Formats: sequence, structure tokens, C-alpha cells
Amino acid sequence: MRDAAAILRERARSGVALGLFTTYRVGGPADLFLEIDGPADLDLACRAVAATGVPVLVIGRGSNLLIADAGFRGLAVKLGDAFAAVDVIGTDVRAGGAAALPVLARRTAAGALTGLEWAVGVPGSVGGAVRMNAGGHGSETRDTLRRVGLVDLGRGAETEIAGAELVLGYRRSSVTPDQVVLWAEFGLREGDREASEAEVAGIVRWRREHQPGGANAGSVFTNPSGDSAGRLIDAAGLKGHRVGSAVVSPKHANFFQADEDGSADDVRALIDEVRRLVEERMGVLLEPELRMIGFTR
Ligand SMILES: Cc1cc2nc3c(=O)[nH]c(=O)nc-3n(C[C@H](O)[C@H](O)[C@H](O)COP(=O)(O)OP(=O)(O)OC[C@H]3O[C@@H](n4cnc5c(N)ncnc54)[C@H](O)[C@@H]3O)c2cc1C
Repeated sequence: MRDAAAILRERARSGVALGLFTTYRVGGPADLFLEIDGPADLDLACRAVAATGVPVLVIGRGSNLLIADAGFRGLAVKLGDAFAAVDVIGTDVRAGGAAALPVLARRTAAGALTGLEWAVGVPGSVGGAVRMNAGGHGSETRDTLRRVGLVDLGRGAETEIAGAELVLGYRRSSVTPDQVVLWAEFGLREGDREASEAEVAGIVRWRREHQPGGANAGSVFTNPSGDSAGRLIDAAGLKGHRVGSAVVSPKHANFFQADEDGSADDVRALIDEVRRLVEERMGVLLEPELRMIGFTR
């Protein structure tokens, strides 16, 4: 770690609490944290990772991340505002990896482009959406994703790749932990501004009615084929189930919430317990959608 710190020097900070960058708002520090504000930082990160092999965690808007209370033993990187631009050329939209999905959804809807309305309900970044193949309301990232620009920090090479080559599936892709999505290009269709904006407003309304606020990271588990994780957790009698500072939302059983000043390890313990109880009571082993970082088991 000291080798990586020596290469990154004053650009990197140590002991930065990563929970602050996540929607759960819990979790400990990274050994090293670097905000990538431009090509020079990117180059520095590549040199540090290539020379030392330090483990990497790319943080987007932290809306699908649970970081252990013990933190992350490695280099956490986050793209800064320099990577948040959204450029519209005809029906093509190029968005930086740090651009917020709701901003992208509203901007394209206002420009009478259709195809990304669903993204208003997903509080992640474009990079996180590509990595997770985020989706909702019957659509997903891969439907409109054309090309992606990414850099492999271990290899240092920036490459451009067709969306179809990223093996995007249900909440997964072939993007590796060392790869940073710098931008993504979406191919949209000409639409009707009023209709798209009404769809966006409808999605926001639906989310408010059906999903809880507070500290959570959306769905904890993926839906098993032909069923829903929320239905199974509810049917197992676990709505409102609590472990320490973490609770299964009484509003949506696949959303687990952390109390203010809560603990990531409590959230993790709740996830393990719910998984075990759902298997025991419903005969289905749920698979986490949430990315859990820094836990020893
Ligand atoms: C209230 C709420 C509702 C949600 N609803 C949905 C939903 O309907 N559908 C859905 O799919 N998800 C949903 N989510 C989960 C989450 O918003 C998505 O998974 C989103 O795509 C994560 O993006 P992020 O930028 O927050 O990624 P993070 O949580 O920061 O990271 C998630 C993963 O992506 C990687 N990553 C992040 N940025 C980059 C990058 N630039 N390059 C490479 N890898 C990167 C991380 O290393 C990590 O593996 C919801 C979350 C919340 C809190």
C-alpha cells in the first residue's frame, strides 16, 4: 500500500470514510482514496495500479454499494465532475461515467428523445449503470447502449468497446473491478417531449409510493426467475425484521434500511439472516444484487 501511496503522493487521501459516498451512509475508510478529476489523475491511478497491483474499488454514486465498517484495504477511486458531461448530438447521447442517471433521463426527455425515461428512478451514475446493467420499468441499460469508453487501471490502456461486447445480463456485465467506465454512448429515438416528461413524472410518483426513503441501496437481492425477492421475503414474514441498526423496510421487503449512524456490519448480518430464513421458510436461496465490499466472509 505504501508503494501505491508513494506514486499517488498528495493526490490521494488516506482514511476517507467511504460510507459518505454511498446511499447507505455507513461503512469505513479506504486505505487510499483518489478523486479522478482529469487525464492526469487517470494516468497517475494507472501507474499506481500497474506498478503495485493494489486492489481497486471504483465508486459511482454508491447506490448499490455496502462497504464494511472495517473499510476497504486498497485504492478507492471516484470520477469527478470532469466526467459528468452529457452531450446530445441528434438522437445520440454521450454521457460521462459520473453523470447521474436521473439527470440523463430528464435531459433526454426534455430534448424529445425517448429510451432513457426509466433511468429517472435509478439514483446511480452512468458508469455504475453500465457495470450493473441497471434497469427498471421494463427497460435496461443495454437496450440503448451503443459504445463505452473505459480504462483498465491495471493495464493503463483506454479502449472503446461496443455495448454488445460487455456481456450485459440481469444486473451484471463483464466490466472488471479494475476497469473504469469513462463515458457511454446511447442511441435513442426521436419522441414526444410531453409524453416522455409525463412518463418520467409517472415513474417518480410510482417510486415515491412504492419505495422507502432513508438510507438504503435499492434491491438487496436479484429476483429469482419467475418470482420476486420482495414477495419471498414478505411471505417469509420478514418485513420489519431487524438486526441491530438494520431493518427490512416495512414498505418494500427487498429494501433494507440502515438507521442514522448505523453499522454496515449490521446490514450485512441482516442480509445473511434474511437469506438463511427465506431459504428455510420458502426453499429459495436469494442472490445479492448489492455489491458488498471489504467483508471477510
Ligand atoms: C432508492 C434506490 C432505487 C434503486 N432502483 C434501482 C432500479 O430500479 N434498478 C436498478 O438496476 N438499480 C436500482 N438501484 C441500484 C443502483 O442505483 C444501480 O445499481 C446503479 O446502477 C448503481 O450505480 P452507482 O453509480 O451508484 O454505482 P455504485 O453503487 O457506486 O457501484 C456499483 C458497482 O458499479 C461499479 N462502478 C461504479 N461506477 C463505475 C464506473 N464509472 N466504472 C466502472 N465501474 C463502476 C462499482 O465498482 C460497483 O461494482 C437503486 C438504488 C436505490 C438507492
